[in-house]
Amino acid sequence: MKPKPVPLKADRLSLTEVETSQGKVMVPYEVRRYKGSRHIKLSIGRQNHAVLSVPWRCPIAEAMEFLRSQGSWLEENLNQHPSRSSLFDYLQDNPRLYGLGHVLRLTIHTTRARPFYVYDKAAGEIEMRLRAEANKETETLALCRSFASEVIEMRTLELAAQHKLKVGRVTVRDQSSRWGSCSSRRTLSLNWRLILLRPQLQDHVILHELAHLTEMNHSQRFWDLLRSYDPRTDHHNSQLNPAAARLMPLGRLAE
Ligand SMILES: [Zn+2]
Repeated sequence: MKPKPVPLKADRLSLTEVETSQGKVMVPYEVRRYKGSRHIKLSIGRQNHAVLSVPWRCPIAEAMEFLRSQGSWLEENLNQHPSRSSLFDYLQDNPRLYGLGHVLRLTIHTTRARPFYVYDKAAGEIEMRLRAEANKETETLALCRSFASEVIEMRTLELAAQHKLKVGRVTVRDQSSRWGSCSSRRTLSLNWRLILLRPQLQDHVILHELAHLTEMNHSQRFWDLLRSYDPRTDHHNSQLNPAAARLMPLGRLAE
């Protein structure tokens, strides 16, 4: 019998930690089951993710163990489609950013002067201008990061005020796998890629970190509190890992 792939949607990507020579890295992966195949095989998919092809009845734990044993192979092969992780290309296909609870139409043009962006809150638009001769990826990343710093901090303070919470500092950073974190000094660190998450999901991440100001753990009390901030917590929480698999690889510049 000829092996037949079961189609999976792109948002079925998950993330796992794999030990490589450079330490632990988060690897986006997908499992495809094949009838009639006998061995686990590993390849690289179009979204620059690991594709585990496994026999139909292979236990998932066995497949994951195999994946985690392939650190050096993954390290060598994961970036063979670097353009798939280009932020610039992604935004060409998905010309939208999200800020302050709104969807913004994004247009990208060129300029002869320095790169800049114009955020028209009332019109729901953001325009980016890149220099024609410059590295588009570098400039797009820089503009996205400064836009993210502007709106994510503002949104965090807005939501904190709504729930009568006192935040310390808010920093917007380039974490490689986390959407955000909250320190014991009440500093919230949020990933700039939140501007790529639709408003309800973006707010959910911010509310998650705000809930840590009261509950510094993931106990039942933490989740109850978060549900009181966001009644769709369970739905939103289940969407974060697939979104991370898609968005975390974006905007990583090659050294
Ligand atoms: Zn948490």
